[in-house]
Amino acid sequence: MQIPLLRLQCGVNSYDWGKVGESSAAARYAATTAGQDFAIESEKPYAELWMGTHPSLPSKDVETQRTLLDLVQDNQALLSAEVSERYANRLPFLFKVLSIGKALSIQAHPNKKLAEQLHARDSKNYPDDNHKPEMTIAITPFEGLCGFRPLAEIVHALKAIEPLRTLIGEQATSEFEKTVKGNEESEDEAVVQRNKDALRSVFTSLMESPSEKIEAASKALIALAESSPASFGTLPEEVETNPSDPAELAAIIKRLNGQFPHDIGLFVFFFLNFIKLEPGEAMFLKADDIHAYVSGDIIECMASSDNVVRAGFTPKFKDVDTLTKMLTYSYAPIEEQKLRPTDYPYTVLNATAYSSASSSLLYDPPIEEFSVVKTDLKRKGAKVTFDPIVGPSILICTGGQGTISIGHKTEEVREGNVFFVGADAECIIQNTGSGEGEEDVFTTYKAFCELDGENTADQ
Ligand SMILES: [Zn+2]
Repeated sequence: MQIPLLRLQCGVNSYDWGKVGESSAAARYAATTAGQDFAIESEKPYAELWMGTHPSLPSKDVETQRTLLDLVQDNQALLSAEVSERYANRLPFLFKVLSIGKALSIQAHPNKKLAEQLHARDSKNYPDDNHKPEMTIAITPFEGLCGFRPLAEIVHALKAIEPLRTLIGEQATSEFEKTVKGNEESEDEAVVQRNKDALRSVFTSLMESPSEKIEAASKALIALAESSPASFGTLPEEVETNPSDPAELAAIIKRLNGQFPHDIGLFVFFFLNFIKLEPGEAMFLKADDIHAYVSGDIIECMASSDNVVRAGFTPKFKDVDTLTKMLTYSYAPIEEQKLRPTDYPYTVLNATAYSSASSSLLYDPPIEEFSVVKTDLKRKGAKVTFDPIVGPSILICTGGQGTISIGHKTEEVREGNVFFVGADAECIIQNTGSGEGEEDVFTTYKAFCELDGENTADQ
């Protein structure tokens, strides 16, 4: 049998929100293995590098130019019999690099049941019947919106941001305030449910605002950001969970208005957590969690699906009705939205890797389709051996240089290179860079699926 190590050629999408030209990591990565007809255009936005078998933009084996989908369908051992059977001969996950130049849609991804319903009703806007839990790991400093803020924060914003209150209307606003007052921190199930219902109601009122009201309110909002940035602050006692200062938040509102003038998203902002991730920090978005990306380069891993319900910061199809109905309305501080990596135990480091504090960290969301291991090999000669796993992997290098080996096959690895590793293969990666500086760290992200036999419920 052939050695299950393939160098992949991965396509990059040119969505409007992508980073432009060479500033886009997705474009630079794609260029490392692209065909001769690809050249990065200096004015063009490049948004998403896709690594996987999704038919909208399937990756190819560089050597044979066959698609990865074709190859895994031809040889099910590449996925393992278990994965192949469970996921209809496809990779269970889609791995991406996103380069975000401007905000991309306020969105949520349907759970399995809703995805089936939406796809049956409207297959043009909902091309898959699958769910799409997704995980984001920052590779450059990242800004985004994720989940509803703690209720006290929302109450505070409704008081401090007059244009927000005016837009929603006094009645809907005060009903919300009355319901949650004194109950913001309650953990009693019935109270939490009542809070969520109240949040749903006030949020739906906001989302159903007519466009002429949104325009007037957004002008007032920008004027407020100019005259009184201090009103954009979060509650003083929440400083630890909301690291951004008022002036920074006011500046972000102005930036977003520049990208999407008079968009409802400017007001949704006050309901959601504003989150900043440093490189290596991650968040996991369950089905029906509201989110929006604002800026940065990220690694994203998701169940293989393309279903998005959008409601703001987008020129694409908006489905406000579906979005406001589907959301979980869970509210929590930012720290609870983050996914913390743990040590990945299924590796062997050589002496150089140990002595240079090289590491393999596991990002393991509570779903079965994927996990990701980030490996930093910090010195020339540092080497890590991954135990074989009963499932497929895709590996991308985001910095430094090295090699990847399976059996007697060894390939050079540079920033942006992508490889497919078949099931049951012992895979070795090694730093072959020139020294020990920061810039010589050899960093890879490896997404993989290994079924553990547990029946994981839909998240
Ligand atoms: Zn998303």
